[in-house]
Amino acid sequence: MDQLFAPWRIEWVERDDDERDIEGCPFCVLPEREDAREARVVAETERAYVLLNNSPYNPGHSMVIPREHTGAYTALDEETLLAHARLTQRTMEALESAFDPDGVNAGLNLGGAAAGGSIADHLHTHIVPRWRGDTNFMPVTAETKVIVQAVEDTYEQLRAGFLDQEGATANDRGGVTLAF
Ligand SMILES: [Zn+2]
Repeated sequence: MDQLFAPWRIEWVERDDDERDIEGCPFCVLPEREDAREARVVAETERAYVLLNNSPYNPGHSMVIPREHTGAYTALDEETLLAHARLTQRTMEALESAFDPDGVNAGLNLGGAAAGGSIADHLHTHIVPRWRGDTNFMPVTAETKVIVQAVEDTYEQLRAGFLDQEGATANDRGGVTLAF
């Protein structure tokens, strides 16, 4: 049976106890953490950032997230909208150079549970690299350890992909800052 492409069914994170203790919105908290690597924040701009999914559908499964806490895409101001779109482009480019996928899925899940999203109050665009015949990567039965290791490796590869870009600098928290 062919699997449907359904990254929206993947819960955001269930890694450690301390992760579950985060109060409030994880998409607001994570970019503020001192260790960007540990937080899985790969790249950031003034208005948006890129977070690796801890339960990836495929290697490189990322989320582009505006810093502004809102679930309403239609209400984004022009600057945030543009920043989000430009960072989406940059993420696709970084994924391309880091992983050379055959294709990419990109999408928003708006409206909470009805759309299958796990965090409805803070919008995020899933970007998932695709390869022909990739539907069985990391089944839900995989060991958590294996997934964490894979995500750590992925972080380094994608980080290198961002660092190659124009206006990119390594920041002191371990991630990449993009100037735009
Ligand atoms: Zn938030």
